[in-house]
Amino acid sequence: MRELIDCHVHTARCGHATGTTAQVISAAVVGGLTGIVLTEHLPLPDALNEGGSFAPDDVGFAAYAEEVREYAVRVRGTDVVLGAEADWLPQRPDAMAHQREVATAAGVEVILGSVHFLGEWPFDSPDHLDEWDRRGVDAVWVEYFETWCDAAKSGLFDVMAHPDLPKKFGHRPARDVLSLYEEAARAAAEGGVMIEVSTGGLRKPVSEIYPCPELLATFCRAGVSATVGSDAHAPEEVGYRIHDAYAAMCEAGYDVAAFPMGRGKVRWVQL
Ligand SMILES: [Zn+2]
Ligand SMILES: [Zn+2]
Repeated sequence: MRELIDCHVHTARCGHATGTTAQVISAAVVGGLTGIVLTEHLPLPDALNEGGSFAPDDVGFAAYAEEVREYAVRVRGTDVVLGAEADWLPQRPDAMAHQREVATAAGVEVILGSVHFLGEWPFDSPDHLDEWDRRGVDAVWVEYFETWCDAAKSGLFDVMAHPDLPKKFGHRPARDVLSLYEEAARAAAEGGVMIEVSTGGLRKPVSEIYPCPELLATFCRAGVSATVGSDAHAPEEVGYRIHDAYAAMCEAGYDVAAFPMGRGKVRWVQL
């Protein structure tokens, strides 16, 4: 039996998920997971935080971190790691610096890097889909991957989350994407960052794992290590279809998945 791990889960603290920290960790224990990285969203500036619904405030984040650290000491049989999901906001260096300060103060061990915004546009939000028509799908994909590559090379993140997120609602570019994939793999290798194989996309309109098989194989060829995550936003989603993520990784050429433990330490899970 393969070890089951999940390196991307949320709690109710962010405002758009359900389940207390205790319930999320208990779901991992009951589900037989040997490791879980809790990765709550780091606080966002008010202008980007849609009425406080997308991310906790500083106090909420600190309380989350405190809880996770307590469980990390107490829970046996499941490694509990304190992580966070950070945003790449190149136009808002103040906001990125603030996220970094909050993470450092809270003792966060693993930081996922996510591109959820192009400029100030949350392109993966169902409430802002009009903008896709205005900009055009091809242009959005190109801008996304350029932005993603900068994030991967920034040295700020341990793992790049859901690499081909723009496909979430089924927006597919007409242009060739292989050059974008090659660039992404080069950037991740150069930046020394891992990528995430996320089953979150299986619960979205696209109904696919992030990244797609071609992109995942490109990462593998470039020697980029990969974690697995469900992006659970409810206790019942913890560990969601992780075996499908493992299968996609094997298909792409991987033979191990990474479980990041913090401070550069990784446990390797055989696929
Ligand atoms: Zn979320
Ligand atoms: Zn997430």
